[in-house]
Amino acid sequence: SRYVFPFEQGRASQRELLGGKGAGLSEMSYIGLPVPPGFTITTEACNLYQELDHFPEGMMDEVWTHLTELEAKLSRRLGDPQKPLLVSVRSGAPISMPGMMDTVLNLGLNSATVEGLAALTQNRRFALDSYRRFIQMFGNVVMHMEHNRFEHVLQEVKDAAGVQQDPDLSEAALEDVIDRYKTLVRSETGRDFPEDAREQLEMAIKAVFDSWKNPRAIVYRRLNKIPETLGTAVNVQSMVFGNMGPTSATGVLFTRNPNTGEPGMYGEYLTNAQGEDVVAGIRTPKMIQEMAQEMPKTFQELTDVCRLLETHYRDMQDIEFTVEREKLYLLQTRTGKRTARAAVKIAVDLVAEGIITRDEALLRQDPDQVARLLYRQIDPAAELDVLAQGLPASPGAASGKVVFDADEAEARGNRGEAVILVRPETTPDDIHGIVAAQGVLTSRGGMTSHAAIVARGMGKPAVTGCESVRISLEAREFMVGDITVHENDVITIDGGTGRVVKGIVPTVEPGLSEDFNTLLAWADEIKTLGVEANADTPEDAQIARDFGAQGVGLCRTEHMFMGQDRLPAMQAMILAETLAEREAALQKLLPMQQEDFYGILKAMDGYPVTIRLLDPPLHEFLPNMAETEKALAQAQQEGRVDDVVRLEAILRRSRVLFEFNPMLGFRGVRLGIVYPEIYAMQAQAIFQAQAALLQEGYHPVVEVMIPLVGIDQEFIRMRDLIQQVNEATQQRTGLDLPYKIGTMIEIPRAALTAGTIAESAQFFSFGTNDLTQTTFGFSRDDAESKFLPHYLAEKILTENPFMVLDRQGVGKLIEMAVHDGRRTRPDLKVGICGEHGGDPSSIEFCHLAGLNYVSASPFRVPIARLAAAQAFL
Ligand code: ADP
Ligand code: MG
Ligand code: MG
Repeated sequence: SRYVFPFEQGRASQRELLGGKGAGLSEMSYIGLPVPPGFTITTEACNLYQELDHFPEGMMDEVWTHLTELEAKLSRRLGDPQKPLLVSVRSGAPISMPGMMDTVLNLGLNSATVEGLAALTQNRRFALDSYRRFIQMFGNVVMHMEHNRFEHVLQEVKDAAGVQQDPDLSEAALEDVIDRYKTLVRSETGRDFPEDAREQLEMAIKAVFDSWKNPRAIVYRRLNKIPETLGTAVNVQSMVFGNMGPTSATGVLFTRNPNTGEPGMYGEYLTNAQGEDVVAGIRTPKMIQEMAQEMPKTFQELTDVCRLLETHYRDMQDIEFTVEREKLYLLQTRTGKRTARAAVKIAVDLVAEGIITRDEALLRQDPDQVARLLYRQIDPAAELDVLAQGLPASPGAASGKVVFDADEAEARGNRGEAVILVRPETTPDDIHGIVAAQGVLTSRGGMTSHAAIVARGMGKPAVTGCESVRISLEAREFMVGDITVHENDVITIDGGTGRVVKGIVPTVEPGLSEDFNTLLAWADEIKTLGVEANADTPEDAQIARDFGAQGVGLCRTEHMFMGQDRLPAMQAMILAETLAEREAALQKLLPMQQEDFYGILKAMDGYPVTIRLLDPPLHEFLPNMAETEKALAQAQQEGRVDDVVRLEAILRRSRVLFEFNPMLGFRGVRLGIVYPEIYAMQAQAIFQAQAALLQEGYHPVVEVMIPLVGIDQEFIRMRDLIQQVNEATQQRTGLDLPYKIGTMIEIPRAALTAGTIAESAQFFSFGTNDLTQTTFGFSRDDAESKFLPHYLAEKILTENPFMVLDRQGVGKLIEMAVHDGRRTRPDLKVGICGEHGGDPSSIEFCHLAGLNYVSASPFRVPIARLAAAQAFL
């Protein structure tokens, strides 16, 4: 065979060729689990089909050959009126795309075989129900008729018969449904519903191939970066029936809880139902635990199967099953999608169970997903106006305006509005709306509904199956009890608990779980790259330390001048016309700075704190010029003389300080060169804080960092200045005040002359934000708002270089500077600060380039620890 392989010939390793579903069915057959037999048409055939626009030569012949074998094995034949074989035709790409492509069940039914099925099973009602499902699915998936058209007919018949649920329909009513369905098909498509079973099969295979190119699948692939070239396989599988009465059922489950990672089966099932019923959210299913009472034997079997599958695949699985008159069949298995929290817990538990190693547990974490663990949750102390309780389908808290339509959610979400998409149930067609919304709320559907799976994958909060919410799409409102919530009213959903709350509620940052800490401790044992944090306040330093940072890699001092009590002193310093005036103003700032440094050094006691001296241009501390002019005019008019004098001074100074391009202007070390008294004051504050802590018995580790150096002489002058201040402070305090002095490398010239700079600098810290700006010649804000999106869309750049370090250009400068710097000074300490320090790919680069540490924002510290370990492994 070239294009078709029976399940018993495939293995799990053949995902590419057989698709995930095909490979899973094959592997389960191989390990002896009960899988209804069938065969897989390969992704290669699909790709050829896309290329040729028709089935590849010989493919259908192979299908018929394997069909004949299947028929022989089961002693049934497709289209045989006495002993009909029914099959499902199921799509399955190499990477799972839940609900994005199409599947047809019960294929092979026609007006003759339906009677054969009725006779064989002695259950005519069941046969008719299967037939009407088949027409509906085939009509929708293969003949492209709208799903709703069928639902409408079904509802009409149910209303006429006065029944609520599908299983309550009588045989006569079902016959009526079938007739009406056929009439509908004829009037909408201009042809009869196909009677010939082989024609049905051929059409269905083609439709599955075509579904690879349907719009929602394309959107899903773009979103999840799945290559277009993979193609989908088609699985033709003999049917088993969950809709044969109360001892039959169908369900979906995870072998462990995908939200929390807790051990034990987690899923849902429906008795007397067929596959799609569970995920479609039409009937709300029962929790799998109820099966322990309702079908104890099957429940036990399922429990055993879960253990076997987990041990075999060495990971949590997501399975689909059907019970036909008490006999269990497995219809699908795949590695289960899970929340970050669950991913951590499951990995740690699997290590404890001896199923995987620590290294594997670490490598299995997606650092970006783990980042979500640090997402917001509703403040437990908050008073909540809880409207309703649904199922906790995807954790996290989100607030937004209620919107009832996916297109509108997309449009408004993309405009930057916070919206919550509220739907009776979501279909895969709503995916674009979910992407743009803050979260999703549905009134129907379980925790394995499409809405839940899609939201979890995107890390979006979701609450599903919230049945007390009655939605009126026409009136654009929903009711809970007698409360009405209109479109545009604000609600908050809590996907961790399933609560729906009125209005905006306070949220809190969550902490690290015990399992997460276990995992991170393993990471720390393995990684060689240090992880420090960017922290400007004692509070941030403490958070960073709690998250495992071993130092502050960047303490910016400019924010310390921004507070209400400090800005006037800072402005006085800037407005000073003489050195004496400036020094007087600086003396006022000194104790405040000292207090900041004291707090940060104390919070990081025993670990290095790298303090960067003043960096931004001075005019950032002065009020906006246009506003000052206005205020001046007002003061003049009202004759407030003192204000006039003050505002005139500010304006005069602002005009002097005005710069055309502040980013490349009078900032960084250039300030220190022109106004050495500023840096001297900062150094004095640092060393006095250090002295105070030493006297109290602490162990401050001080590193002073000079920003924006490009010329070795700039650095040397500042080094000497700091050294003088240090010596003076030592003399005054009688204490030994050791420190290191180093520089940021954020100007290409600094990287190019790193060998020389390292003669006087004891450490380097790559300021990759500025280094990226100056290497590309991009101003960050202008780039990101004007042309960078275009560059990314046109693939001129594949990543935003401000988020993912540009290895080719900026990276080359870094490698060169590390190399040249260490040649001069072998023990040169080298690190990175800037956004990139928290980005996993950039961290990997830092590891490879031989840096000593990365410095990330406090909440990224756990991610950096993990990424540093992964870089090592
Ligand atoms: P999806 O990729 O959307 O999950 P599937 O191909 O898995 O689509 O089919 C959906 C559901 O249809 C399955 O979960 C299962 O319940 C049902 N189904 C598919 N094939 C069969 C079969 N051979 N017998 C019984 N039910 C089936
Ligand atoms: Mg599908
Ligand atoms: Mg499935």
